[in-house]
Amino acid sequence: MNKRKTIAPIIYIVILALVFSWALGLFGDGTDGLTYSEVVSLFRQEQVESFTVEGTKIQMHLRSAYKGKTKIVAQLGDAEQFRREMSETIMAQSQSGVLTSYHFVPQAKTSPYAYVLPIIIAGGVLLILWMILAGRANSNNPMNNFGKARTINGLPANKKVTFADVQGVDEEKEELQEVVDFLRNPEKFTKIGARIPHGILLSGPPGTGKTLLARAVAGEADVQFLSISGSDFMEMYVGVGASRVRDLFDQARKMAPSIVFIDEIDAVGRKRGSGLGGGHDEREQTLNQLLVEMDGFSHTDGVIVLAATNRVDILDPALLRPGRFDRQIRVGRPDAKGREQILKVHAKNKSLDESVDLKTIALATAGFTGADLSNLLNEAAIMAARDDRTAFSMRDVNDAMMKILAGPEKRSRVTLRKDLYLTAVHEAGHAVAMYSLPTHDPVHQISIIPRGDANGLTWTRPTQDSTHLTRNEMYERIVGLLGGRVAEALFLNDISTGASSDIDRATKLARDMISRYGMCEKLGTVSYTGGDELFIGRDYQSTKSYSEKVAATIDDEVKLLIDRAYDQCKDILEQDREKLQQVVDFLMEHETMSGKQFRNCMEGEPVVDGEENAMFDQISSPDAPENMH
Ligand code: ADP
Ligand code: MG
Ligand code: ZN
Repeated sequence: MNKRKTIAPIIYIVILALVFSWALGLFGDGTDGLTYSEVVSLFRQEQVESFTVEGTKIQMHLRSAYKGKTKIVAQLGDAEQFRREMSETIMAQSQSGVLTSYHFVPQAKTSPYAYVLPIIIAGGVLLILWMILAGRANSNNPMNNFGKARTINGLPANKKVTFADVQGVDEEKEELQEVVDFLRNPEKFTKIGARIPHGILLSGPPGTGKTLLARAVAGEADVQFLSISGSDFMEMYVGVGASRVRDLFDQARKMAPSIVFIDEIDAVGRKRGSGLGGGHDEREQTLNQLLVEMDGFSHTDGVIVLAATNRVDILDPALLRPGRFDRQIRVGRPDAKGREQILKVHAKNKSLDESVDLKTIALATAGFTGADLSNLLNEAAIMAARDDRTAFSMRDVNDAMMKILAGPEKRSRVTLRKDLYLTAVHEAGHAVAMYSLPTHDPVHQISIIPRGDANGLTWTRPTQDSTHLTRNEMYERIVGLLGGRVAEALFLNDISTGASSDIDRATKLARDMISRYGMCEKLGTVSYTGGDELFIGRDYQSTKSYSEKVAATIDDEVKLLIDRAYDQCKDILEQDREKLQQVVDFLMEHETMSGKQFRNCMEGEPVVDGEENAMFDQISSPDAPENMH
C-alpha cells in the first residue's frame, strides 16, 4: 500500500506550522509570570500608578520596582472577574490619586497568526490517524504495539515494594502471604494437591493501598509482575482490548511463576447489559476475553491473577464465579493503630521537628486512608519548605489538614464587611448550637477566612473513632447543621444562600434516618432505599422499590424532623443570644477562634488572644469533611 506517499505532505505541513508558530513566539505569552493574587496584592499595596487591561492581559506601571521592573505585564486569566473584584479598589484609588490612569480595552486584537494553531491541531489528528492506519497495514510498524499489553516487568519506578511498606492492613497481608508462599514454592502446594485460588480481588475505598499491596506481593515473592489498568483497555480503537488481554495472559504463562495484576478492573468488568447509551461493545468483548482467559489456565500454570477495584458492587457477577475471582480481600480504612504505622512509613524520608507526634496525628485522622495520610505529611513538608524551614512542625500538620479538608485559605479574596459579618453570625450559630448539644462533637476551630468554596468554617472533632451513629447523635447533628441558618434568621432578620450546603446535608441525614436506618415510628424498621443501580450517562441512579404513597410519607416525615430540629436550634440560640454576640465580635476582630477560646467564652471565662492556631489539643479528630459547617 502507498499510504506513506499520500501522507508525507501532511507531515511537512505540520512541521512547517510548528516551526512557524514557534518563531512567531506563540509559545511564550510575553508576561512576567505574576499570579493573579500577586497582581491583586500590588493593588492592595497601592503600588500601581496606572494600568491597561487588554483581553486577559494587564500592563501595569508601578511606583517602585517589583521583581526588578516598574513596567509589568501579567495574565489575569479572567479579566471580567478582575474587573468585578477590583472595581471598588480602583474607584477609591483613582479618586485619592493613587491611580493616575487606567484603561479597559474591550477586546484583544486577535493575532493575525491565530490560524496557525488550528492547522497544527488538524495536522496532529491526521498524523495520528495515519499512524493507526499504517500500523494496522504494516506488521513491521512499531505502532502495532498498540495491541500489546503494556506490561511492567519488575516494578514501575524500579523500586521494590515489600509488605513492610504497606501498613495498617495486617489481616490482608496475612491472606496474601499464602499467595507469596505459593509463588515462591509452587511444588510444595501442587504435590499434595492443594488448590490455590488463581483469582484474587482486592476491594475497598480508593487510597487504601490496594495497588501497593499487589506490588508488595510481587516484591515479596520476587516474581514477574505484569500489570495493566482497566482504563488502559478503554483508550484504544475497537478490538484492541480483547487482544491485549490475550497477550497479557500469554506473556504471563511464558514467564511463570508470575502475577497478572489488573488494576481498576471495574472499568472493564462492569455488569454487562446494564446501562443506557450504547457503545459498550468494546468493553464487553474485553470482559469476555478476560473470562475466557481466566477459565483457560490451570492451577499448575503458576500464574496468579490479582485485581483491584473500588466498586465491587458494579462488577459483572460472572467475574466473581468460582474459578475466576473467587477469593475477595477487603481492604478497609486503617484504624488508629494502623494510621500511626502508616504515618511512620511515610515520615521515614521526611524531616520533622520534635513537636510532631505521630500518635496524636493518628488519633486525629479518623477516616483517613493511607493515601490521605501520605498526602497530609507531604503537604506539611511543603508548607515548611515554603517558609524556608528545614523540618515541619505539628503546626504545619494542622494547617495542612485544614488545607486538605477545606481547600487553601483565600485571604486575597475581597470580602465586604457586611459579608464578613454575615459569615461570623452564621458560624457562631453553628458553634453555639453545637456547644449546647450533649452528644455533638466539640468545636475545634471557627474561622471566617474563606477556604475553598466556603466563606467560613466551624470545624468539629469527634472524641473517638466511632463507627456507629445513634439516632440521638444523628438528630443533634441536624440541629448543629441548622445553627448557621437559624442564627442568620434570628440576628440579621434575613437569610442567605450561605446555608445551602448545610441544608443539603441536614436533609440527607434526616432522609437517611427515616428511609435507610428505620429510625421513624410511622414507617417502621424498614429500609426504603433504592433497588438496582442503573447506569445513566455518567451517573448511577437508583430505581425506587416502594410506592408513591410511601415516598410521600417519607417526604412528610423528613420535613417534620427538620422542623423539630429547627425549633430546638432556635430555642438554644435565643437563650444564648449574648454569648453568640460575643463570639461574633471575637470573630470580626480575630477572624479565627480556637476551640479553647470558644469554650472559655461560653463558660464566661476570659478569652486569651493569640491562641487562634492552637493545635489539636487532647484527642482531636477532624475526619471526613462532614465536620465542616
Ligand atoms: P488504592 O490502589 O487502594 O487506591 P494505592 O495503593 O494507589 O491505593 O495508594 C496510594 C498511595 O497511598 C500509596 O502509593 C502509598 O504511598 C499510600 N498508601 C496507601 N495505603 C497505604 C498503606 N496501607 N500503607 C502505606 N502507604 C499507603
Ligand atoms: Mg489503585
Ligand atoms: Zn454553615
